[in-house]
Amino acid sequence: MINLIISGAPGSGKGTQSDLIVANFRLKHLSTGDMLRAEIAAGTPLGKQVEKLVSSGAYVPDQLMIDIISNAISQVDNSYNGLILDGFPRTAEQAQALEEIFEKMGKKISIFLDIHVEEQELIDRLLKRGQTQGRKDDNLETIRERLKVYNAKTQPITDFYKKKQIYHRIEGIGTIDEIYSKIEDIINSVANG
Ligand code: ADP
Repeated sequence: MINLIISGAPGSGKGTQSDLIVANFRLKHLSTGDMLRAEIAAGTPLGKQVEKLVSSGAYVPDQLMIDIISNAISQVDNSYNGLILDGFPRTAEQAQALEEIFEKMGKKISIFLDIHVEEQELIDRLLKRGQTQGRKDDNLETIRERLKVYNAKTQPITDFYKKKQIYHRIEGIGTIDEIYSKIEDIINSVANG
C-alpha cells in the first residue's frame, strides 16, 4: 500500500505526473483542484461558495478542504493500492488533519514528493496553459498571488514531512518522462524497501 502526497508550486506538473503515476501503479488520484473546479462548473452550492477564492488565487478555508478530502478518501474503494493526494495538504492545519485521518484508518502516508521548479519557469508554463486551456486562474495577476500564497503557506509544511523522513525533492525540469522516471524510482524503492 502506497499513499503518496504530490506537492509543488502551481505549474510544477503535479497533475501531469499524477496521471502517469496512476497509469502505472493502481493508485486513486484525488486532486482537490479538480474537485473544486468540477463543483464550480456544476454550479453547486459548494462551487458557488469557493468560486471567488479559487479565481483570485486564494486558498479555500482549511475546514472546508478537510471535509472535502475526508469525504473523498472515505469513498475510495479497496481495489486500489493506495492514494495520490494532489493539492492537499496545503497548510500546516491541513497536514495535521491528514495525520488524524490516516491514524483513524490505521494507515500511513508513505511518500511526500516535492516537485521543484524555479519561479520564472512556473510563470511561463502557467501563462501558456492559460492560453491553451483557458483556466481562469492562469493569468499573470492570479499566478503571482498563487505563488505568493504557496510560498507563505505550503512551502513551510515540507519541514513536517522532512521530520517524518518521507520527504523527497524532485527537480521538475526536463522532459515529462525524465521527471516521471525519477518519481517511479522513488515509488519502487519505497514499495520494495
Ligand atoms: P495549482 O496547483 O495549479 O494552483 P490546483 O488545481 O491544485 O492548482 O488548485 C487550484 C485552486 O484550488 C487553488 O489555487 C486554491 O484556490 C484551491 N485549492 C485546491 N486545493 C486546496 C487546498 N488544499 N486548500 C486550499 N485551497 C485549495
